[in-house]
Amino acid sequence: MRILVLSDIHGNLDALEACLASAERYDIVVNLGDIVGYGASPNEVIDRSREVGKYFVRGNHDKATSGLMDLKDFNPIAGLAALWTRDQLTPENLQWLRGLPQGPVQIPDFPEIQFVHGSPIDEDEYVVTLHDALAPLATLPLAVTFFGHTHLQGAFSFKTAAGDAFRPPYKTIGQNETTQFALKKDVRYLINPGSVGQPRDGDWRAAFAIFDTEKWAVTFQRVPYNLKSAQDRIFAANLPQRLATRLAAGR
Ligand code: ZN
Repeated sequence: MRILVLSDIHGNLDALEACLASAERYDIVVNLGDIVGYGASPNEVIDRSREVGKYFVRGNHDKATSGLMDLKDFNPIAGLAALWTRDQLTPENLQWLRGLPQGPVQIPDFPEIQFVHGSPIDEDEYVVTLHDALAPLATLPLAVTFFGHTHLQGAFSFKTAAGDAFRPPYKTIGQNETTQFALKKDVRYLINPGSVGQPRDGDWRAAFAIFDTEKWAVTFQRVPYNLKSAQDRIFAANLPQRLATRLAAGR
């Protein structure tokens, strides 16, 4: 089976459509959360996410927007965007967002794989460095955990007390590109597909990953999308301008 893993779409419809259009052959979609927040197309992104299904994990922005988390934990721009998003959402979409499951989530028939938003230990924890990854990796009962939250594409691995970090190397800054990452059977992994709608690794392109369970391999992908359209929607919505300008920098 080929699993398309999407994370941190953040209301960016242009980026989501580019990912869905360029993702090669997949059987199911797993969404790691932060479907809304920051971007200006929350209803459209929820509708499209529900359409492609099938498994979902809630993110902190999904919780904050739907009233499950206090906004005092958010910086002012994130808080403002969450309130704007709450105001925009249809009652049905708001209710759907509130009902998203907390990770870890699993797919039947694949007991070695799990999906979370932050870390397997705490859904709101940021796993940024190898150091952050070591505690969950050392205690994980499963071989592979997909996570999001940091908006940084890549993987951490662990085998008998030694850890390693992998960042996909890309050749261009504007083309559609993939990087293959083959997993070993006796190594544990934490894998981040990157952020669809607000990358923060200095690469503006939308990010996602496809996991091939037969080959036991991940394809990391970056795709250019209609950046200007996403930015114009943010300006038109009177959301903070920084939310539009940061998309161009991938920060
Ligand atoms: Zn996020």
